[in-house]
Amino acid sequence: MGLSGKTRVACVIGYPVSHSLSPVMHNAAFGHLGIDAVYVAFHVAPKSVATAVAAVRDLALLGANITVPHKESILSHLDSISARARRVGAVNTIVPRRGKLLGENTDVPGFQRALEDEDVELAGRRVLLLGAGGAARAVALALRDAGVSRVVIANRTINRAQSLARDFSSKRTRMEAISLPEAAALGDPEQFDLVVNSTSLGLTGGSFPDVPFERFSESTLFYDLIPRRSTPFLEAARSAQRRAVDGLGMLLHQGAVAFELWTGQPAPVDVMRRALRQASRS
Ligand code: NDP
Repeated sequence: MGLSGKTRVACVIGYPVSHSLSPVMHNAAFGHLGIDAVYVAFHVAPKSVATAVAAVRDLALLGANITVPHKESILSHLDSISARARRVGAVNTIVPRRGKLLGENTDVPGFQRALEDEDVELAGRRVLLLGAGGAARAVALALRDAGVSRVVIANRTINRAQSLARDFSSKRTRMEAISLPEAAALGDPEQFDLVVNSTSLGLTGGSFPDVPFERFSESTLFYDLIPRRSTPFLEAARSAQRRAVDGLGMLLHQGAVAFELWTGQPAPVDVMRRALRQASRS
């Protein structure tokens, strides 16, 4: 579709951002539905975040995604924050409405829908969550909302795992914190139905800490938030003959929820998935 005077603009704001697969996915969706809009990536340094948010408002953008490292710092620049984004403490989607900017977090439903795609029923399950950063907070809320019974959070900096466990534990969902070396020496790995890697380990290659992949049950699913077919975590799980899934599904579904908030139309999920798969192969 050609650009015109009526073309709307949506964007992702990050630092760095050139690796982002979001433009491919959203432009495929706009094209498929014949929506006169284009999605671009903006490389914005932390000192310029307030200006970038003002531009989203003043240029009447269709919508914006926010990625690392701005998901937390953006909160203070928005007009309102959804209850979910406030609970997570992070915004990954800005929804402009009548000149005001609402901050939303679509990583939470994105993670839940990605696991639904894998036929994982979360209610009552036991989960080992590796990492306690921003993405882990979205995962923890998703797990709690889905009625998981136990979450063990393992992180290099144990204080972060402890505060995550404190923030999201409930009567129904017990959360506890351990260090990464403790995760390597787990006494009862066979009881976990799902292991989620939310650390950024693997973005730059290297090996994964000594988690005893082969001691988990054969039915345990290993899910890496990083949307790449191969990461050290996934490779280790696969070489222990375990089921291993990358974060493309979460990326897809957080994008689909954002798309629906911006356009009011159902997202063409299959078109977006195909575009993502194609781009992540190239
Ligand atoms: P953060 O920077 O907030 O957190 C990073 C996490 O990785 C922390 O737990 C940190 O531990 C841990 N970590 C980093 N380096 C090391 C290391 N050398 N050894 C051990 N642990 C380490 O990042 P996010 O939570 O925002 O993102 C995490 C990952 O999730 C990224 O790879 C991102 O791409 C992915 N992601 C994917 C999404 C998707 O849609 N598929 C959505 C959002 C995120 P510590 O606390 O000790 O520093």
